[in-house]
Amino acid sequence: MVHDATGALVAVAVDGPSGSGKSSTARGVASRLGWNYVDTGAMYRALTWWLISENVDVSDADAVAARVNEPTLDISVDPATPGVFVNGHEVSAKIRDPHVTESVSAVSAVPAVRERLVAIQREIMERGAVVVEGRDIGTVVAPDAAVKVFLIATKEARAQRRAAEWAHDHGITVENTAAMLDQRDHLDSTRELSPLTQADDAVMIDSTAFTLDEVINQVIAMVRERIPSFATS
Ligand code: C5P
Repeated sequence: MVHDATGALVAVAVDGPSGSGKSSTARGVASRLGWNYVDTGAMYRALTWWLISENVDVSDADAVAARVNEPTLDISVDPATPGVFVNGHEVSAKIRDPHVTESVSAVSAVPAVRERLVAIQREIMERGAVVVEGRDIGTVVAPDAAVKVFLIATKEARAQRRAAEWAHDHGITVENTAAMLDQRDHLDSTRELSPLTQADDAVMIDSTAFTLDEVINQVIAMVRERIPSFATS
């Protein structure tokens, strides 16, 4: 991992509930700064996709744990071309399938899954200055990150955004989307291991009333303040 002259970890951690704008924000910040971008949710989704394709019962934690080390998992860290790979094959589109979305919270609650994926995420963070998004980045994966953001938005705004992204592909309504987000956030926030929670030293940003560019600017301002020598945007 990269540290600045004062020893600060050159990383931005972006956590928050589903649909709060984490991906667009994290990608935008990484792109502006010329840093790497790590979408940890895509990794949980990729493992879930692979388990489903292998006919593993994803509601059976022991069955999931027994297979978790089998596939190779990697991501592209270039914010211009994010992608996730299982056994060397790109699965970036497949991991957005509603079946994966419905099952991913059960898979991500299995301790053996988190142990493996957090280890891979930390290895990927070694590749350079990085913006990492997920649910447990500021609390578990990179608690020393120089900048930590907890991004929220009203339930209505989150459902609207996700429905706009999905409706085209899957014909899903705003109401359905809101119900799915609620269920996933409930599971992600109440699981025993590394639940979605704001780190004590994270700055909360409510993105509801801001444009994407405004949120990106707020995060970049935090980077300038905390690790000025790396904020070259
Ligand atoms: O961010 P995204 O919605 O793609 O994440 C999919 C799922 O992966 C989340 O609902 C959560 O269950 C899991 N996840 C996690 N920890 C992370 C990132 C995602 O448990 N750091």
